[in-house]
Amino acid sequence: MWQTAGQDRIIEFLRDSISRRSLAHAYLLVGPPHVGKMTLALDLASALNCGEGGIPCGACRVCQRIQQGKYPDVIVIDKYVGRDPKDRRKATEIGIDTIRELLQRSSNLPPYEGNYKVYIIDDADLMSAEASNCLLKTLEEPPRHVIILLLTSQETALLPTVISRCQRFELKPVAFAEIENRLSKFDGLNPDKIKLLSRLSGGCLGWAISALQDDSYLQSRDQRLSEFFGLLTRSWSDRLLYIQQIPSDRHSVEELIKLWLSWCRDVMLLKYNCEEDVTNLDKLNEIRSWANMLTILEIKDFINSLNKMLVNLSYNANLHLLFEVIMLDMPKKEKKADYSINAAGVNN
Ligand SMILES: [Zn+2]
Repeated sequence: MWQTAGQDRIIEFLRDSISRRSLAHAYLLVGPPHVGKMTLALDLASALNCGEGGIPCGACRVCQRIQQGKYPDVIVIDKYVGRDPKDRRKATEIGIDTIRELLQRSSNLPPYEGNYKVYIIDDADLMSAEASNCLLKTLEEPPRHVIILLLTSQETALLPTVISRCQRFELKPVAFAEIENRLSKFDGLNPDKIKLLSRLSGGCLGWAISALQDDSYLQSRDQRLSEFFGLLTRSWSDRLLYIQQIPSDRHSVEELIKLWLSWCRDVMLLKYNCEEDVTNLDKLNEIRSWANMLTILEIKDFINSLNKMLVNLSYNANLHLLFEVIMLDMPKKEKKADYSINAAGVNN
């Protein structure tokens, strides 16, 4: 059985290709991080090498070893491969030596025990220009028994000549109901947490499972949202002081702004009486109190400012200045003793 969630059309196509023996030599799997690209790649590798007639049974020795990374004919290449675990932080690209040693040379040898040698390059966009050109040589004259799978969430960073030699599949975000269904199979999870994680995942099942196994994400989100909630009624000087507590690396800042945007989107949804579509389900009371204090125009303008900040982030603008602008653009309200829920006053 295919383990990949929510990509039925692609699976159907691949199953058909396997049964008709009309496989491409290279596939490009495009989609956001944690949407299931690696799961699909391992599923396909199992389907090609499993003894159960082209469908990954998931239970045989071949399937199990592929899942555990112990099958000699399925080779996963990423930026960490071949590095000392202590140097993981330094790993930023997939170099030519990695592609030459692990793929180009070994691809000319027949499979050790399976039907196909399957090479999976994770975050293929991290290949250096030399590594991409080295891969291109194998893509131009691929040995018959070789299938190459390139996984990426940044397709535009790949060489067009590499893309043009692959059959391309785009993995779409998985439906919330399907994510809830998969999460409900984990023991001891309450339904509210399942629902919350599926909404926060944005359709990426892998993300939801990681957040399930590591509480630190939900804890830090909780803290960040509590701080953000309070900023609406803080003084200008408090807001500017708060900037000093904000993370200084661009990736974390981008995550933070997206978190704020998800909150503001929820406020807007409440303004339009669409409570069932809210993402931050566990913060409904706080979001409602913002919705009570802000007008639609105020929240719209602030969403525009946050979106503008995301664009400016990609241009390497000064982080401190960007946050100063955001803190001044954020509407400011007087603190009231009572944030009580006033459903009638939400829509204005
Ligand atoms: Zn199997």
